[in-house]
Amino acid sequence: MEYAEHIVDLVGNTPLVKLNSLTKGLKPLVLAKVEYVNPGGSVKDRIALRMIEAAEASGELRPGGTIVEPTSGNTGVGLAMVAQRKGYRCVFVCPDKVSEDKRNVLRAYGARVVVCPTAVPPEHPDSYYNVSDRLVHEIEGAWKPNQYANPENPASHYHSTGPEIWRQTDGRVTHFVAGVGTGGTISGTGRFLKEASDGGVRVVGADPEGSVYSGGTGRPYLVEGVGEDFWPETYDREVADEIIPVSDAHSFDITRRLATEEGLLVGGSCGMAVAAALKLAERLTEDDVVVVLLPDGGRGYLTKVFNDSWMSSYGFLPPDSSGATVGDVL
Ligand code: PMP
Repeated sequence: MEYAEHIVDLVGNTPLVKLNSLTKGLKPLVLAKVEYVNPGGSVKDRIALRMIEAAEASGELRPGGTIVEPTSGNTGVGLAMVAQRKGYRCVFVCPDKVSEDKRNVLRAYGARVVVCPTAVPPEHPDSYYNVSDRLVHEIEGAWKPNQYANPENPASHYHSTGPEIWRQTDGRVTHFVAGVGTGGTISGTGRFLKEASDGGVRVVGADPEGSVYSGGTGRPYLVEGVGEDFWPETYDREVADEIIPVSDAHSFDITRRLATEEGLLVGGSCGMAVAAALKLAERLTEDDVVVVLLPDGGRGYLTKVFNDSWMSSYGFLPPDSSGATVGDVL
């Protein structure tokens, strides 16, 4: 019989798949690392597992403890899944702008979700940041992973994502492309690949136009999970050789084409990363092997990127009054 002892044992070891249609006319081999096949549905399962195990080892997280983190998305799912396995409780704090669907996913895993008003300044006692800090102090045995400052976040990629890519490409990868949020993925994976290749692998970040990583100030953008208005401790400024800024419009166009042309239903930050990889590939040769990491799946974005009315309301598609979503037969 072949089975895993627990769903958490299936985190990592995600496949690489060749992009065939979007890459027409380009010379290098472009391979996508498909992170939505992780059991929690995203790359964040990797960091959740490592952050929790490191906190257990250091004694910061003890049996019966509670994990408190301000997160509304993928990191929460990963933490909740691992917490369930190990018997911890989870409390996630998220701003009220986060959709009810996303909050319900966390609740479905058994987590408690505390919702804070978006329309208050960070120093306000009810702000997202202050509420999570207060909960950490009030709840006995509480531990806050803090994915933006926890060294185990990049370390998880140094020890898993990087070695997987090196092994899967037989050491032939020449370029690694990833979007940058906390910076954990690009810093950990990039550092491993550079060390393994004696500096031969070029590491390229993809960033929403307006975010700090590509020289912006944090101007709003719609792609989720990437870009910042501050420099997190988990981002290692020495690793990326280049940052390619990508507009929302281009990110979403490529996201939709990944579904219709490649059969990859993925999130908006995946389209952004692939857009950067394609731009990079234009100047490369047949000898190059580009690996681009796709952080999550597209089902969490059906009412946004994959909805024509939403796209039109932001000017990403010509005005459409039908309210149809992708795939509707009109
Ligand atoms: N895409 C999505 C959808 C994410 O949730 C994240 C994590 N914030 C990223 C990309 C970026 O990954 P990292 O935090 O490792 O830079």
